Amino acid sequence: MTAQLIDGNALSAQIRADVARRTRALKERGLTPGLAVILVGEDPASQVYVRHKVKDSEESGLHSVLDRHPASLSEAALLARIAQLNADPAIHGILVQLPLPRHIDANKVIAAIAPTKDVDGFHVASAGALMVGQPGFWPCTPYGCMKMLESIGYDLRGKNAVVLGRSNIVGKPMAMMLLQKNATVTICHSATPDLRSHTLRADVIVAAVGKRNILTADMVKPGAVVIDVGMNRNDEGKLCGDVDFPGVREVAGWITPVPGGVGPMTRAMLLVNTLEAAERCLPKPQ
Ligand code: NAP
Repeated sequence: MTAQLIDGNALSAQIRADVARRTRALKERGLTPGLAVILVGEDPASQVYVRHKVKDSEESGLHSVLDRHPASLSEAALLARIAQLNADPAIHGILVQLPLPRHIDANKVIAAIAPTKDVDGFHVASAGALMVGQPGFWPCTPYGCMKMLESIGYDLRGKNAVVLGRSNIVGKPMAMMLLQKNATVTICHSATPDLRSHTLRADVIVAAVGKRNILTADMVKPGAVVIDVGMNRNDEGKLCGDVDFPGVREVAGWITPVPGGVGPMTRAMLLVNTLEAAERCLPKPQ
């Protein structure tokens, strides 16, 4: 069997087109969705990420502000800037690019973002809302993975889903989203002794570890859906995921590529969250 590809580039383009359409409709009602992206320091990868986020926003018609600060910025000054953005009616989403310099407590900074503007979905209020199934903001990467499953019409009810990785921004929220759709979910992590014993029973596998080839063909049930969140470099320095793509695609039913899979979906879901943050500001119909 050769797996069918879930094309993150194509799907994210559709989502961005829908965001652009809904943004035009909002603008006609006098509301322009606004995103503030805060970058502290000169980390090269972070600079690329924030440039993409600002460019994506502008292409979809959103208003965006790139808020750059030197690495020497104090924690107090950053918190004060977030307070300003929390109070700014032109800004509906606030994103602080991680990692932050070591002298700044990232937890404290994320906690300072108004939950109504937490479009990255990292605030504990957002995590809590996801946990109890209330409206909030879902973290963009697992949200994008759910959209990929939705795009192939995959019904998770009663399926075994295995998530490799338990970070607060990918693995744990991913597991919660799969659970909400009635999958039976197993979370594996660095202390799981035998990954294969779990993955072989899985109908859906989400790999979010950050290690090349953590998932190989002998670990996958024929026909399973494999979503590769990982972002690594191969020996030639090219971007690759956590999954041994050439091997696993011969066994899986569906597979996401890297690049062109989860990455563009993550970017698209940030726009969706920002748009929804703005839409929630509209007056409620009587
Ligand atoms: P992270 O915070 O480093 O978490 C990695 C997780 O993998 C941890 O829970 C860790 O377990 C687990 N792990 C480590 N070794 C393992 C092993 N041998 N077997 C099973 N689990 C193991 O990373 P993250 O932020 O979740 O990101 C994961 C990957 O996704 C990275 O490659 C990152 O670059 C990528 N990513 C991609 C996107 C995108 O848009 N495509 C977005 C975010 C992240 P412990 O908890 O026990 O340490």
